[in-house]
Amino acid sequence: MTRAPLEVRSPATGEIISTLPVATPEQVTQAAAAARAAQHVWRERTFDERAKLLYRFRDILLDNQDKIADVVASETGKPRAEVFSNELFYLYDAIGFWAKKSAKYLRPEKIRPHLLKSKKVVSTYGPLGVVGVISPWNFPLVLTVGEAIPALMAGNAVIVKPSELTPLSALLGAELARQAGFPDYLLQVLIGYGDVAELLIDQADMISFTGSVETGKKVARRAVERLIPVSLELGGKDPMIVLEDSDLERAANACVWGALMNSGQVCTSIERVYVEAPVYQNFVDLVVSRVRALRQGPSDGEVELGSMTSETQINKVEAQVEDAVKKGANVLCGGRRNPNYTGLYYEPTVLVDVHHDMEIMRDETFGPIIPIMKVTDAEEALRLANDSRYGLDGSIFTRDRELAWKMADKIEAGSVCINDSLVNFVIPDAPMGGMKESGIGRRHGAEGIRKYCRQKTIVADRFGLKREFAWFPNTKRTTDFLRTGFRLLYRSGWKNKLFAIRRSDRG
Ligand code: NAD
Repeated sequence: MTRAPLEVRSPATGEIISTLPVATPEQVTQAAAAARAAQHVWRERTFDERAKLLYRFRDILLDNQDKIADVVASETGKPRAEVFSNELFYLYDAIGFWAKKSAKYLRPEKIRPHLLKSKKVVSTYGPLGVVGVISPWNFPLVLTVGEAIPALMAGNAVIVKPSELTPLSALLGAELARQAGFPDYLLQVLIGYGDVAELLIDQADMISFTGSVETGKKVARRAVERLIPVSLELGGKDPMIVLEDSDLERAANACVWGALMNSGQVCTSIERVYVEAPVYQNFVDLVVSRVRALRQGPSDGEVELGSMTSETQINKVEAQVEDAVKKGANVLCGGRRNPNYTGLYYEPTVLVDVHHDMEIMRDETFGPIIPIMKVTDAEEALRLANDSRYGLDGSIFTRDRELAWKMADKIEAGSVCINDSLVNFVIPDAPMGGMKESGIGRRHGAEGIRKYCRQKTIVADRFGLKREFAWFPNTKRTTDFLRTGFRLLYRSGWKNKLFAIRRSDRG
């Protein structure tokens, strides 16, 4: 059965900007077979050879920056400026990072056995084969081609299934990779909806999924049928805590950017804010004045906010704000779709008088909303921050460094920023991922490339004896020897060991 072509729409205007054929089940199978063949050649290339290609790819990206910015902006509605500051910056840095660091992270590790000194032990990392990357729409280049980079450096082939809302960025990325000299079929893109992603799970050797918690659970269920590894980078409801002694101006600026960048459609967006009572009003005033100064409009203008990307998402934002207002929240600015535009523009919004019976404080919003709640002290802030099924990121603002580190340790999240927000995502050296329902596995750091590898342990005998102690035949002498040996080795305390020797002497 052939599916109707996929229509890609500009979220800013609603216009159709492209129509693409959806991959058929046969094409998914063919893509996997072609990827497998390409990978057999690619895995033999050295890290240096792979890195060289990546650098060439970066040059081609640099030659096409404006074209890329146009494509990403057209299908996401985000400001072109943010394509440069987020997507392109991330890609350029990630390419250099993985080109340099992959060999170090995947170097064979010598292991010294604590007991069997007669063995040489080495743990190695090799490619898994074909990696399936399933992506959302909020960063259509970073979370497709960007995610593929460490998998490729590890020697895998990659098939990307981008979001049905934003497939054009991934297609362009893969085309530029091909122009850079990537072997045919090494990096492929499959167009389609969730069913195409499911078929990809049935073919791949590993799945790297980024998306919602609900879909992530489906992906995990399907992958477990084949017992293939998955990494799940899922949603968040990231708390920000502002203590009385913090630099309020920095905190307010961080809050506005951390909550509203990419119209709040960032997995690590600040989604709820807890402020200690003595500075609450001051902080709210600072945030509101800054939010009122933000400009919203088409992506090619000098604007801080563009349109949102997904119709479903803007409806969710609207419903959450409505629910909050019904339950007593006050809207200090925004709180509605932007009446100046027909597309998916939602005004940057500040909400106060919010509490945890409101969806806006419990479920991921993924939109340009800042709900701020007054708390009595750091303890209450921490309790509320952890009152969530999510655990992706968090942030804490205070001048008390000792307290900040203590609280960072207690916030239930995969990463915590102190006096900062969101910045951990652009530190590829540092592992990033979720606790609780925010996911399994890590991107970035050693874990961010080792997840694309099968780890193998190789044990080699060093002395070449004719027979090892545990080998056949089993004799009474061996058992007696072990009985005494175990007492000596494993009983705690020296006196007990001596006692054991005497007792075993007596038989
Ligand atoms: P989504 O879960 O709806 O879709 C993600 C991808 O999964 C899409 O490509 C979609 O086609 C595919 N998919 C749909 N049904 C599927 C199925 N049954 N099996 C396999 N794949 C299926 O997410 P979205 O709306 O595109 O993106 C927003 C979500 O992504 C948010 O929750 C956000 O927090 C999350 N996200 C997380 C991170 C992170 O690093 N943790 C980063 C960005 C976005």
